[in-house]
Amino acid sequence: MSNKKTYSIEFGEVWVNGLRSDSIVDEIKSRCNIVDVIGQHGALKRAGSNHKGLCPFHGEKTPSCVVSEQKQIFTCFGCGATGDVIEFTKRYYNLDFQEAVEKLANQYGIEIRKFGGGDNQKREAMYELNRKAARYFLDSFRKIPNPALSYMAKRGLDAKTLNQFGIGFADANWDSLYKYLLSEGADVNMMKELGLISESKGKCFDKFRNRVMFPIINTRGKVIGFGGRVLDDGTPKYLNSPESPIFLKKNNLFGLNLTRQDINKNDCAILVEGYMDVISLYKAGVRNVSASLGTALTENQAAMLKRYTKNVILCYDSDGAGRAAALRGMDILRAAGCNVKVMHVTDGKDPDEFVKAHGAEAFYALTKTAKPFADYKIDLIRQETDLTTTEGSLEFLHRVTSVLKSLSPGEADLYIGKIAADTHISEGAIRMEVFGNGFGGGKKEEPVNTAVRTEQDTGRRKDGTDPVLYLEKNLIRLMLAQSDFIQRTQPYESVFRDAVYRKIYETMKGLYREDEEIDVGKLADSLEPEEVAVLSDILENVKLTDKEEDVFLDCVTRIRNERLSRREQQIIQMLSLADDETDLAKVEELTRELMTIQQQKNNRE
Ligand SMILES: [Zn+2]
Repeated sequence: MSNKKTYSIEFGEVWVNGLRSDSIVDEIKSRCNIVDVIGQHGALKRAGSNHKGLCPFHGEKTPSCVVSEQKQIFTCFGCGATGDVIEFTKRYYNLDFQEAVEKLANQYGIEIRKFGGGDNQKREAMYELNRKAARYFLDSFRKIPNPALSYMAKRGLDAKTLNQFGIGFADANWDSLYKYLLSEGADVNMMKELGLISESKGKCFDKFRNRVMFPIINTRGKVIGFGGRVLDDGTPKYLNSPESPIFLKKNNLFGLNLTRQDINKNDCAILVEGYMDVISLYKAGVRNVSASLGTALTENQAAMLKRYTKNVILCYDSDGAGRAAALRGMDILRAAGCNVKVMHVTDGKDPDEFVKAHGAEAFYALTKTAKPFADYKIDLIRQETDLTTTEGSLEFLHRVTSVLKSLSPGEADLYIGKIAADTHISEGAIRMEVFGNGFGGGKKEEPVNTAVRTEQDTGRRKDGTDPVLYLEKNLIRLMLAQSDFIQRTQPYESVFRDAVYRKIYETMKGLYREDEEIDVGKLADSLEPEEVAVLSDILENVKLTDKEEDVFLDCVTRIRNERLSRREQQIIQMLSLADDETDLAKVEELTRELMTIQQQKNNRE
């Protein structure tokens, strides 16, 4: 055994849901030093702050391949090969993106836990066990007069809504569920692993007793866990299933299985705090709603939401905890590229009470008053600082600056005017704090990992779709509608970077080669269940209009633009590694290419 540590990353779950797993790419980049990786294939010598060696991609006698340890990139001034450690591995071994990631992960002891694989059977068994438990709770809720039913009735919920959410009842006995599941032949260890039962002194007993049961169902319709609200004075008030191989809280949102279409249709998601808020709002007719599962909002949850909309309204309680949760949630959603607004209900302490008292229309009217992220933060800072003193003004300026810095220069400018008008601080002073001395553009330094960011930056749209997946989804939708798009997509097929989307595309290409048309049934037969889920999501949610040609051209233009931007970044990177020994003609050539690209980009804009 080597002394290499094994790092474990959840990879598959995120990837398979159609999201790019940037975390693993970042992990690879931070653990696999590019100097080390390239050094294995040929000697590298230190040259200034960089390393230099013979290029492995073209024959040469004088080294022209520069490797930057600081930037973690390589560039060959002879043949133009350039990129990061993953790009190097792709080219050197002729692998695709995912294969290169896997190879590096293997070599450096980074464990990639893949979705599917050998554990698939166990996961399916777990889903099935949870389904049985949910069914049992549901039956108890319906069959016997019970406190859960009266509790829900008191809260004004009707049978139809309760049914839609699969609300159940766990009775007060110590082992009702346990006995039932045993009689169904269920595995005791699995019951424990899912947190349905506990064992103490050799005796097994139910975890959820005398509680209203909220099954947590993922977007594929599987019961992944439960939340249980106590019906007496017991504690805790809410008990949630523990994390398990099928229940990762950070990857799921409550209610999304029912509400994602409405979120997509409204191009807006309203995020609330609790189970009851979701159910009450849904019942009242506010259906584009969801809740994080009793935890602070996570990056994965933000990424999930973004599949349906980019516009999110946080509707949390107006108490201190709710405010703090809103602030944290806002930052996470912003980082995921969402437009965030915040609202607090004014009457009643939570959305549940408000909507019961005033109805859906009043609630929607209230959402119109939700404050954009910057307004919300600036207002809070104002409340917390005393602008009548110099210290207070300085503190205000300092804190507001960090908010403004996170905005685009144009947006920031709007706020600067407003703030100057309402305070005694001059516009110039604020502008200087925000942009720095004599630097009006506010341009931030590009991170090394440009590929993904560039794609996102080029695709700012208000249609509420992830720009990267926008392309992949739409192209697949077009190909399904009209098979000749398959051929026309081939020159751009490198856009399918996500493993699932690429698999769907490749399979369609294969079917097209056979009989020039796509039979969706046949296509689904050739795919894994997770891939079929993505496919049906596309069929269900990507709307076709009669403007197929326009959509296709739009996709192609975006891919071209994205390529131009990526090449632009690449050249800028390469030029940053040039030194006095670098061939001057090559530098000139690159500079010319850069100018051409920038001209092309300007012409488009
Ligand atoms: Zn080369």
